[in-house]
Amino acid sequence: MTTSKEKPPFEKIIIAGAGPSGLLLAILLAQAHIPSVVLEAWPWLDTRLRATQYGVPATRIFRRAGLLPDFRAASIPKFPTICWRRVADGEKLVSIDMSVVEDEEDRMTVLQLGHIIQIMYRHCVERYGDFIDVRFNHRILEAGQDEKGKKAWVDVEIGNEDEEKRHERMEADYIVGCDGSSSAVRRSLFGREWPGQTFDCRFIVQNVFYDGFEKHGWDGGNYMIDPEHWGLVAKRGHGGLWRVTYGDPVVGLTDEEYLARRPWHFKAILPGHPDADQYRIEQTNMYNIHNRCVPSFKVGRILLAADAAHVCNPMGGYECMTACLDVGGLADCFIGYHQCKAGEEILDTYAEVRRDIFMKYVDARSIKNLDRVSKADPWTVSETDKFFGILKELNEDKQALKDFLLKVSSIEYDFRKHYDAEPQTNGVSNNVAEKESAKEEAAASLQLQV
Ligand SMILES: Cc1cc2nc3c(=O)[nH]c(=O)nc-3n(C[C@H](O)[C@H](O)[C@H](O)COP(=O)(O)OP(=O)(O)OC[C@H]3O[C@@H](n4cnc5c(N)ncnc54)[C@H](O)[C@@H]3O)c2cc1C
Repeated sequence: MTTSKEKPPFEKIIIAGAGPSGLLLAILLAQAHIPSVVLEAWPWLDTRLRATQYGVPATRIFRRAGLLPDFRAASIPKFPTICWRRVADGEKLVSIDMSVVEDEEDRMTVLQLGHIIQIMYRHCVERYGDFIDVRFNHRILEAGQDEKGKKAWVDVEIGNEDEEKRHERMEADYIVGCDGSSSAVRRSLFGREWPGQTFDCRFIVQNVFYDGFEKHGWDGGNYMIDPEHWGLVAKRGHGGLWRVTYGDPVVGLTDEEYLARRPWHFKAILPGHPDADQYRIEQTNMYNIHNRCVPSFKVGRILLAADAAHVCNPMGGYECMTACLDVGGLADCFIGYHQCKAGEEILDTYAEVRRDIFMKYVDARSIKNLDRVSKADPWTVSETDKFFGILKELNEDKQALKDFLLKVSSIEYDFRKHYDAEPQTNGVSNNVAEKESAKEEAAASLQLQV
């Protein structure tokens, strides 16, 4: 291993994608004076309706990246409860008092992903302009590496829609694919191989203004349990903005056909059973949902992180949080290697550990979260589901609930324990917890849920 006086072992990293994972990775690297070039296919940042909530483990990374004050300023001030309701009669089955952590810096973050990305981008430009070069209209077509394994490259199509495109090969010491679920970097490595499953439903997401929420005393996050109308209804922004998401269990319709069914879903799900002229919908996006993971997060000098490597269904808010933990861990590995506190093999450790965590914990738990709202019997689930039993117990003891909401999750991992000297900090556990007790599982799950 080199000493810290020698030239750093690598100089240039190309990050594919200016989504939350790509920009967050660039910021964390820039804090350690490691430069990166972020290549984004589109001329703009993504504004589709996707994530809105990021559990405590992600908040800890946002804090570390210096982003948290701006996220909090843009967010709604209070997020008082999370509850699970039966759609059939609107009955609250189990509820958690989130006010016990409302003064805690590391409490869950609630903010639409579009705002998160814009704030991250502003930090890239205003605070780290010397280290981060974000280039829009740079679509990666393919990624690869030279035969000797000394350099990685991407073939990029450059230019916006109105101009003739040019093509360029760009080289770097490492390429990191943060280019989302349709990742070109992943496809260069594994083709169409992306083991996992696609769920039989269409996931319909919309921003909604409806005064019936307040009138009927709804607040915070409401998981809706029903085989036909499952989903999440949550307060998300200033001025009475709510996010309504539901899964339509019918497959194979056109977008227009799904939208024609929306008033029926809304009438069933929303309090007061409103007709379509009683609410206003501001934006809608539709998705297929999947749980999938690549065979490896690293091939030579090409690494994958976040949605480019794995996806899971959105019920429970695991995915972007896991994305943040991936790039937080990867940043630590690059920093340790760059500062000669670890050898290059720490990048292999990243690849193994983060994949292992997805397969062991995130995949299974996110499917349980989905099953809880879409498959469970709404009339018996509050008695039969162990998770609800734990929550009911915790509701009896405020301090226990607080500890539970803030606890270190088994999906967190501090790669700095692999540095030569052991500069362990910030109280985050170094071990992937091996315990799979029901309580641990529930705690990890709840940190992520709204
Ligand atoms: C409806 C919905 C709700 C969700 N809710 C939550 C939630 O509440 N909490 C949570 O934790 N997670 C949630 N998620 C998941 C979350 O949105 C994703 O995990 C997160 O966006 C992943 O970030 P990413 O940066 O890896 O990928 P993306 O956000 O997809 O960003 C990838 C970027 O790469 C760019 N790109 C793509 N291809 C190329 C290319 N060839 N060349 C260059 N650039 C390219 C894209 O344009 C994009 O900007 C939700 C997802 C959905 C669909």
